[in-house]
This record gives sequence, structure tokens and C-alpha cells, in this order.
Amino acid sequence: MRIANVEGRLTLLTAGGGVDVATASNGRFSADPQAAYEAWDELRHWAATSGAQESTVDIDAAAFGPPAPWPRQVFAVGLNYREHAAEGGYTTLPDEPVVFTKYASSLTGPVTEVVLPEGSVDWEVELVAVVGRTARHVDAGRAWDHIAGLTVGQDLSERQRQKCGPAPQFGLAKSHPGFSPTGPVLVTPDELADPDDVAIGCALGGEEMQKARTSDMIFPIPHLVAHLSSLLTLLPGDLIFTGTPAGVGVGRTPQRFLAPGEELVSWVDGIGELRQRFT
Ligand code: ZN
Repeated sequence: MRIANVEGRLTLLTAGGGVDVATASNGRFSADPQAAYEAWDELRHWAATSGAQESTVDIDAAAFGPPAPWPRQVFAVGLNYREHAAEGGYTTLPDEPVVFTKYASSLTGPVTEVVLPEGSVDWEVELVAVVGRTARHVDAGRAWDHIAGLTVGQDLSERQRQKCGPAPQFGLAKSHPGFSPTGPVLVTPDELADPDDVAIGCALGGEEMQKARTSDMIFPIPHLVAHLSSLLTLLPGDLIFTGTPAGVGVGRTPQRFLAPGEELVSWVDGIGELRQRFT
């Protein structure tokens, strides 16, 4: 199943376009995309059995918003790919996930203009998992049952604030307005040949900056769910930014950061792409 946020309304994607879920279900399901994750099993059953596809209408991909616009918690994982840890100067790998937060006010849909704040703004393409079921003490073997689906994310990061002061300022440096684009759609894990091994990358002005496979993660998604749910409760609709592969600007020689007028395209094979223009 593939869903999208089309002008703020939960939309089931079909071969010919999309189905407005609230209308086609006669109000059984809310139009609010965030509410989908509270009734995820029912929504999947309805999508598979109701014949809703017959209500397909054309949709405008330019009107897509974030598939989960108001999560209660947004987790992000640092240093989760070996080569990215190495380019950051880390000679030993973390022995448990490095977790921080991005604030929900930074979320946007897939195609946006981002105003660059003062400093050095960098790119980090990431696979983002959306939680579909409350998770507490879930072991890795059952973790995928608690994930609604996957989408593409950018963890835009202002490196000066991230690294200044006596302790890192990850949350603030990664939460400027527009710093967390996601989308274009949410894809359920069963739609991918192997949800633990998908190609991911980004290009700046057409020049490839990052390209990897998610099977290179140090802590794959099941491990992240097990670790987080051993410490706290994951809630339906929460986001987990699962870390970025090598090729960020701060790790290059010379270093490179985003400049006004540039366009960043971020993609995950089988899901789609994000497109950010900077001013
Ligand atoms: Zn990141």
C-alpha cells in the first residue's frame, strides 16, 4: 500500500491516481494523514478489501505534504553507516545507536524552497521509518510488524551550531524551518523486495553526492526499534530518521555546503524523491 498527504488529506495511491480516504470511506477514516497511523491495521484492511480503487481521481504530485505531518516524536540516528562515521573522523564504531531528535515544526512535504540560515548547511539523505503500532520492549524479530512504512527524508543540518559550545546542539541545528522534508509517499514494507536493503542517494545540481544501500547500516531498522522501545514507548505516527550514508558536505575535501540557488534531489529506490531549492 502507498499513501500520500495530498493538500492535507489522506490519500490512497492507486495505479491511475489517488483515492481520498475520508470521502471513499464515508468518514470512517479521518482526512488527517497523521490519524492514519492510529488505525493502521483497519486502514490496510479497508484498502485491500473495500474496492476503494474505483474512486480513483487524478492527483497533483506538486501538492503533496509530509506523509506523517505531526508526529509526537521524531527520532534521528547519527553515525549509522560505517563510511559516514569514518568521514566524520570516528575511528571506532558506536556500540549502540546514537540518537537525537528533530523537532516536528521543521517537517515539510517533498518539494520545497528552504531559506538558508546563517552558518554552514549540509545535506543528509535518510530512509525514514514511520511507526504503525505502539511499541514497548519489542524485539528485533517482531520490529517490522510495528512499522507502518518507509519514506524518504532529508536531515538538513547547520554544522556550526551542531558542533559549537560545550555539548553538541543537534536538535536545534537540524530543526530550522524546512530542515526535515519527507515524502513523497509512504510505502508499506511489503511493497519492497527487501525493506532492509534499498538504494539511497542524493545529488546537488545534478552531481551525485551520496549513494549507498541501507543494508550498510550499522544498526538496521529492527535493531533501532528494539533499542528505542527498550528505553521508551514508540507511538503510532512517530518518525525514525535512520541515519545518512557517506558523502555529506562536511566530510569532503574541501568541505562543501548548500548555497542559494542550488537544488538538492534526494531519493530512495522504490519510494520516490525529494526536491529542495535553497534561497
Ligand atoms: Zn542525520
